[in-house]
Amino acid sequence: MQTTEQTLPITKNIALVAHDGKKAALKKWCLAHESILQTHKLYATGTTGHVIEKETGLSVEKLLSGPMGGDQQIGAKIAEHQIHMLIFFWDPLASQPHDPDVKALLRLAAVWNIPVACNEVTADLLISSPCMAQEITRSLPDYQGYLATRLD
Ligand code: PGA
Repeated sequence: MQTTEQTLPITKNIALVAHDGKKAALKKWCLAHESILQTHKLYATGTTGHVIEKETGLSVEKLLSGPMGGDQQIGAKIAEHQIHMLIFFWDPLASQPHDPDVKALLRLAAVWNIPVACNEVTADLLISSPCMAQEITRSLPDYQGYLATRLD
């Protein structure tokens, strides 16, 4: 498929997701970067969002719990260009009942070329980037162009 370009805004929509074994790590990360995070719009799967709101001063739009469909909701928002960045602390040492959803979420983040961090160090690097306070240009699949060729 051909690609096109899109500008991501200065105020980014950031999705936060952590498996149970990684929720403490994400809470710590959010506290460490609270001042930057509060300048963006935050989304999270249900339990993760509740933990972040309880333990930090951040306000989060909470979706369903991950195993109940929350990962899929975030994936849909990525496909609809409503989520611009994903911080996803998945747990490599625990099996998950919703593993297909986890895989699907990571796949959609790759399809739509959004920045993704799956561990603390990468998330530190992303959030510290000067690009967080700037517009970013990303390439993404040219779905409208694809449709036009299919409908010719
Ligand atoms: P949770 O979901 O925030 O509701 O725990 C996270 C996940 O496992 O995807």
